[in-house]
Amino acid sequence: AITEEKGTISIHTENIFPIIKKFLYSDHEIFLRELVSNAVDATQKLKRLSSIGEFNGELGELKVTVKLDENAKTITVSDNGIGMTAEEIKKYINQIAFSGATEFVQKYKDKGEDQQIIGHFGLGFYSAFMVAEKVEIITKSFREDAEPARWVSAGTTEFEITQTTKEERGTDIVLHIAEDSKEFLEKFRLQNILDKYGKFLPVPIEFDGNVINNTAPLWTKSPSELKDEDYLKFYKDLYPMSEDPLFWIHLNVDYPFNLTGILYFPKVKNELHLHKDKIQLYSRQVFITDEVKDVVPEFLMLLHGVIDSPDIPLNVSRSFLQADANVKKINAHITKKVGDKLQELFKNDRKSFEDKFDHIGLFIKYGMITDDKFYDKAKDFCLLKNTESKFYTLNEYREHVQANQTDKDGTVTFLYTSDPGKQDAYVQSARKRSYDVLKLDGMLDSHFINTLERKLEKTNLKRVDSDTIDKLIDKGIANESVLSEDEKTKLKEVFEHTLNNKNLTFSVESLPVDELPVTITLPEFMRRMRDMAANGGGG
Ligand code: ADP
Ligand code: MG
Repeated sequence: AITEEKGTISIHTENIFPIIKKFLYSDHEIFLRELVSNAVDATQKLKRLSSIGEFNGELGELKVTVKLDENAKTITVSDNGIGMTAEEIKKYINQIAFSGATEFVQKYKDKGEDQQIIGHFGLGFYSAFMVAEKVEIITKSFREDAEPARWVSAGTTEFEITQTTKEERGTDIVLHIAEDSKEFLEKFRLQNILDKYGKFLPVPIEFDGNVINNTAPLWTKSPSELKDEDYLKFYKDLYPMSEDPLFWIHLNVDYPFNLTGILYFPKVKNELHLHKDKIQLYSRQVFITDEVKDVVPEFLMLLHGVIDSPDIPLNVSRSFLQADANVKKINAHITKKVGDKLQELFKNDRKSFEDKFDHIGLFIKYGMITDDKFYDKAKDFCLLKNTESKFYTLNEYREHVQANQTDKDGTVTFLYTSDPGKQDAYVQSARKRSYDVLKLDGMLDSHFINTLERKLEKTNLKRVDSDTIDKLIDKGIANESVLSEDEKTKLKEVFEHTLNNKNLTFSVESLPVDELPVTITLPEFMRRMRDMAANGGGG
């Protein structure tokens, strides 16, 4: 029989709960995630024992039930998993769970308020004390002769273990909700928390008579058994208001780290920020966060979908996360997969790739701007579009313009327009001289242009209204002028005098264009300086 026992949990911090409460203040709701995950774990452990022959009883229908009793002011999380003996409670709750909590407190109690803790600590069982003034565990182990046991603690380091009665195998965790946490005694609040964290848990979670979760979400299935419709439907489940995505990547890695997930490429229009922070991070089907910064490279944060990895540490600060080796590997892996997928699309169906390029181009350019490794891969499939809406890879484009747009030193100039409407006259003029003009008028293109100049050898990018055109190799197509040299000089002086701006270059020449009798150009670097000043220093 269980000998009744009272005792003091051996930790050094006298009362850790006020400290836990303080640090977890903004995130009290995670107590439910922690307790429900423990209940799920308990059922999964039993399933495993059964599969290896260490449990020969009936598994039955494994499930977790969350019950709310507004009158008694309790929330009860029940499972029919492995349960615990009194010895196991002492070991797993008094020693292990408490040592986790203690370690946490030791680590963070001296840190200032500005120390941003990611918000998910793996505090586990003891997070119950964020909302409860008293917690009971009533449990019966799966072992045949196990005696049920009851543990109770009122949020101090004191605990009590006694005998109790319980027929069924498994564990009930009863939280007596504290006065300042009454909000959790509302059905809708609980429902919302369960929806948020438990939507895809692998065991049925019952609340208020309903199962709230899908136990086999798409990312846990094998890609070979899935159709496009399945992926599209799952996307709609995740983001009910969104347009269909362009395509997706099903991630499935088990070495050297464990990672599954589905990443969708959304149709991104111009408002980048609307598309950010949509990826959901899970750990064994438990929702953790939708702040995937650091786990996913910045440029891929525009993607949507789900990443599930038990190998991402959740009980550490953000700065630690950035330095974590697994996180770095995951980051690199995702980047590589995305690169592979884009490359494959480009190779297999260039036409469709071009059709989608207005959307995909944004990711690709963002990636090339911010990630050198990605640049190296993407340079072969990143497309440039000219004013005739033809697409070229970087190499193809270079070849396309080489003959006409190379200067004496062998430097090739890519001309572009950043505003096809306003710069139309310049575009026409350049095209009349047989120059090609790229359309680089997207929101990332000014950065992209800088990246290309940095990366491409012997290549300049010049806006079509800069003074470049005149400096390109003489095409020998200048028309005979109707003006005499004298008249040209006078005309030039008139402009110089009237506009009185030393930064501008004036020249009088005959262009093979009727619509453009006069062009005034600005050296490219001056123009960029001016644009930068106008944009408040770039951007
Ligand atoms: P973790 O889940 O990370 O191990 P917790 O603090 O959440 O840490 O839980 C501590 C331990 O208590 C668990 O590892 C498990 O052994 C035990 N435990 C907690 N809840 C249950 C439960 N519902 N059924 C069986 N064992 C449990
Ligand atoms: Mg736990």
